[in-house]
Amino acid sequence: MTTFLGMPATAPRGVGHLRGDEPFPAAAHKALANDQLRRNLRHATTTIRGKSGRVIAELPDWQELRSAGSAIKADVMSRLPELLEQLEARVTERGGVVHWAADANEANAIVTDLVRQTGSERVIKVKSMATQEIALNEALEAAGIQPVETDLAELIVQLGNDKPSHILVPAIHRNRSEIREIFLAAMPGVDPALTDDPPVLAAAARKYLRETFLSTKVAISGANFGIAETGTLAVVESEGNGRMCLTLPETLITVMGIEKVVPAWQDLEVFLQLLPRASTGERMNPYTTMWTGVTPGDGPQNFHLVLLDNGRSAVLADEAGRSALHCIRCSACLNVCPVYERTGGHAYGSVYPGPIGAVLSPQLTGVEDNASLPFASSLCGACFDACPVKIDIPSILVHLRNRAPHGRIERAAMRAAAYTMDRPKLYARAQRAAKLARIAGRRGRGLPLGWNEARDLPEIPEQTFRDWWASR
Ligand code: SF4
Repeated sequence: MTTFLGMPATAPRGVGHLRGDEPFPAAAHKALANDQLRRNLRHATTTIRGKSGRVIAELPDWQELRSAGSAIKADVMSRLPELLEQLEARVTERGGVVHWAADANEANAIVTDLVRQTGSERVIKVKSMATQEIALNEALEAAGIQPVETDLAELIVQLGNDKPSHILVPAIHRNRSEIREIFLAAMPGVDPALTDDPPVLAAAARKYLRETFLSTKVAISGANFGIAETGTLAVVESEGNGRMCLTLPETLITVMGIEKVVPAWQDLEVFLQLLPRASTGERMNPYTTMWTGVTPGDGPQNFHLVLLDNGRSAVLADEAGRSALHCIRCSACLNVCPVYERTGGHAYGSVYPGPIGAVLSPQLTGVEDNASLPFASSLCGACFDACPVKIDIPSILVHLRNRAPHGRIERAAMRAAAYTMDRPKLYARAQRAAKLARIAGRRGRGLPLGWNEARDLPEIPEQTFRDWWASR
């Protein structure tokens, strides 16, 4: 893509977790060899799909809710600057401080600086995709500040020096005996007699986290929604760890992607019905925490909101791809995707795996840095059907495939094909030549593009349609 002066920048290289170490096909190949991973993934995605399907079926107006969610998000994207400034004004009026971060480097520097100013050497964290995207934990650790993830699955991932593999269930690739090993190796003060019984594992995490909640003065969160009309931030979660982080510490720092703003309080009526049903298969989130600025004598007395761009403006600039910003991170598209179910999240290289990752990551980084991801799909369309805000992921995938860099041979072959197909006589001659010479061979041997590595070329028929037509 040509770059012009003033074009919004993509997420910078060298920081954050949006780019993998290897292309998707190579990473997927390794993941497919892991039987345990595939068993875990199949079990988890099948269970969530079933649960979600049952509670969605209870709502007669599910399709209308999806349309409403899609319309609200489209409206947000059409007037994003105005809504963000409104959000900033309301948060500031209520005693919060708003910071604007153009990219991951700026956001990490702002947050690190804010934590340093408090004198705290430890922070507690609510699960947040935005902070994973910018590698905030790594930046804090480099500054001598210890980040402690408080969501159970995130804690497992953190203690295991691992990477999350699912938006909603980050430790989906781990089974309970692996979790026991991780706790024994890395959890401070853990009982050496720990078993792999799930309630015992949960109790061990609970004891460790409770002590940490009560002794840490700074918390860092993401946000599911930021309401422009009131300056209210909202976080939904299932364990109550978020509620502790958002209410107990003296200082709260929230990192929010700029696309998470919604115009009005009433918009939550739609999203708080869509999100839990599509994600965890629950009728409502067990914990929905909302706060507006600072309330004297109640909750954190210092509140900072960091508004993160990191490539989002570049996504917004692409009319055909911008609806990827509508995503409410429910992970329904992951749970129905036949590719994700077999490879898991690590193969995508980015913190955003599955179908949404295949369209969001390449747009945030620039397609050339994640060129294989738009091809990590069978284009079956299950993600589009499952998405609670109706993001047409398959169309964006096709759009990005066209923008991805193509090899010299492929480009030349496509140009030649286009030239031939544009000229009926030449095309007819080419068909006859192919029939006579069988240049592609029965199984596509002779095709220069590697297409025949994964699929067979149908045998070229004895008689073309044109010959058949002419014979009548
Ligand atoms: S793209 Fe749609 S289905 Fe996938 S995580 Fe986002 S909101 Fe959920």
